[in-house]
Amino acid sequence: MSAPNKSYDPVEVSALQPEALERARDEALAAIAAAGDLDELKQVRLAHAGDRSPLALANREIGALPPQARAEAGKRIGASRGAVAQALKRRQAELEEERDQRVLVEETVDVTLPWDRAPRGARHPLTTLQDRMADVFVSMGFEVAEGPEVEAGWFNFDALNFKPDHPARSMQDTFFVESEDTDVVLRTHTSPVQVRAMLSRELPVYVVAPGRTFRTDELDATHTPVFHQLEGLAVDEGLTMADLRGAIDAFVNGMFGEGLKTRMRPSYFPFTEPSAEVDMLCFVCHGRSVEVGAPACRTCSSEGWIELGGCGMVNPRVLAACGIDPERYSGWAFGLGVERTLMFRHGVEDMHDMVEGDVRFTLPFGTEI
Ligand SMILES: [Zn+2]
Repeated sequence: MSAPNKSYDPVEVSALQPEALERARDEALAAIAAAGDLDELKQVRLAHAGDRSPLALANREIGALPPQARAEAGKRIGASRGAVAQALKRRQAELEEERDQRVLVEETVDVTLPWDRAPRGARHPLTTLQDRMADVFVSMGFEVAEGPEVEAGWFNFDALNFKPDHPARSMQDTFFVESEDTDVVLRTHTSPVQVRAMLSRELPVYVVAPGRTFRTDELDATHTPVFHQLEGLAVDEGLTMADLRGAIDAFVNGMFGEGLKTRMRPSYFPFTEPSAEVDMLCFVCHGRSVEVGAPACRTCSSEGWIELGGCGMVNPRVLAACGIDPERYSGWAFGLGVERTLMFRHGVEDMHDMVEGDVRFTLPFGTEI
């Protein structure tokens, strides 16, 4: 604040001249009118109505005027500052209104626009089929078990009674993660999950294990190096082949329709004894395509029966390897191929279709998520 100026000098206080005040006011009003948005108006407010604005500086100089001139100068400056403040207030209101209108237009959501034009992803038919197969067993009281895809050789082979010289243990059939010496493999079947379930769960055990498996097959119409299995395992007191047969029958009726018979043929697996291949009566021709003169059936190649998978009573050596007393407990297990099931259930003829990711193959299966 300036000290009172006893010897009033009009030159020094030229900012207080009416013309200077008018010019400052008009400049302020022009700048306010020209402000295009709220940010610009903020700058204008600082420049023309702030503490360092010409009108504010002029106001400060009133105190330096001789007493008789102060009232007149105060009135003039007050009028100018009042006009500027009014203009700022009006412009502020206008610009806020403009902004609100713009936001309303820019952020409008047209609820009548179509909402379903973007194609939605869907799960692969193999995944949905695998879940559906597992669900049949879950409905019978089985739990879903999982295990790693990179597996120790002990779980994949030894615990399952594969002898050290079994051909499956060579690099011809099995993907070794580093070298054969490390004995770490990409699991060749879901059966190691059986071992893990027996080791980690309380008895009795009723589990189903869907999962991805790996073998060194070339991709062709009927083989793929990466495929899916559904493994089932029951370990309890007093289980027999009849229980296994009953569970498989219930699965076949649940997946393919009531009244379809199954049959078992003797087979061999290191981890089951006795072992069997299980077939089901063709769900399309119900076995009639084998009769003389009957129309051919593509689903079973007119064989009447469809191969489902392998099964058997858990080998006592496997139970023992998992710390279970084979004198007291018995178990059964089965393994079903998910790719194979998709092929005969849906008439898929070439394995390439399942792995190449062409939506023309997957779309007819629907977009179940
Ligand atoms: Zn048939």
